[in-house]
Amino acid sequence: MIEYERLGNSNKPFFEDYKKAFNTFLESGWYILGKNVEEFEKQFSSYNGCSHCIGVGSGFDAIKLSLKAFNFEPGSEVILPSNAYIATVFAAMHCSLKVVFVEPDISTYNIGPEKIEEKITLNTVAILVVHLYGKACDMGPIIETTRKYDLKLIEDCAQSHGAMYKNKKTGSFGDFGAFSFYPTKNLGALGDAGAITTNNDMLSSALKRLRNYGSEVKNYFDMVGFNSRLDELQAAFLIIKLHRLDEINNHKRNLAKAYLDGLKEDFIKPVVDKDFYDVYHIFNVRHPRRDTLKEYLKNNGIETQIHYPVPPHKQKALMGIINDDRFPISEEIHNTTLSLPISFYHQEDDIYRVVEVMNKF
Ligand SMILES: *Cc1c(COP(=O)(O)O)cnc(C)c1O
Repeated sequence: MIEYERLGNSNKPFFEDYKKAFNTFLESGWYILGKNVEEFEKQFSSYNGCSHCIGVGSGFDAIKLSLKAFNFEPGSEVILPSNAYIATVFAAMHCSLKVVFVEPDISTYNIGPEKIEEKITLNTVAILVVHLYGKACDMGPIIETTRKYDLKLIEDCAQSHGAMYKNKKTGSFGDFGAFSFYPTKNLGALGDAGAITTNNDMLSSALKRLRNYGSEVKNYFDMVGFNSRLDELQAAFLIIKLHRLDEINNHKRNLAKAYLDGLKEDFIKPVVDKDFYDVYHIFNVRHPRRDTLKEYLKNNGIETQIHYPVPPHKQKALMGIINDDRFPISEEIHNTTLSLPISFYHQEDDIYRVVEVMNKF
């Protein structure tokens, strides 16, 4: 049986260090916003080539607080890809923003830069890009568009820790990079956790307050804030894992190469391009008979997942909210995509086995 993921296996290389970190944490008696959060923020901003990092409670909060920091007028429009994960869409909705979907590119699965301009109106305030599956968006033309129309740029980096576009890390292009450290992500914690990266001093200080009831000095509240602090214990675990994030990404890149080299051409594989350094949070293929393929693999002891089976505009929570319901590219992706095992504990032999079975389909 080749499982899709087993976090107990993927985290095993860190167990000893995690246990030591837990004991130190326990005895320190300092459990909220302490040395670990501060240290992780320092290291993670430097890893991403940014001047600031603000640790928050989750990836969802990272997106939500990033949007909140701008105080956009209610009803302002934010552009995001129609195949975004639902958290990204909800974050915008919780900030009273109008969600405007732009179709992804059918080969990269990321927002189609050339399709953005036609959706911009006088009410557009921001573009919220998602670096899906571990591939950076085509940032060159996107940044040009944000400059031309004076829009804010927020990057959802929940699947792209360490991914690069032209040798520059995701999370360092926009006003904000929003990261999730949900346990399955390439940089995963042992619970909920997230962070925001930025190069803007003012926005950084606003976010430090927003995450902590609007307070930077104890008992003084400058704005109506939230409670969304990166957990001190999770920060301790994240420092340990961050030191090996490049190793994790390299491991996944090697497994991806085995898929790319081995899988027959019947499967539509992820594109590879010299300008993009992909970290394969997810390795997907597309096939017209996706559900039959999934069942066939299951019968042969191979577990797969679908990211994602239903696009946001078809979700009950969005009924009546998105006026436009024609997103054929997004629907095509959701109907045909299948995610193959590619985690830190899988070995090349596991991938060869998956390839062998798949090539007989
Ligand atoms: C995981 C994920 C999120 C949400 O992160 P949480 O930490 O679970 O809140 C947001 N966007 C994308 C693209 C994700 O993959």
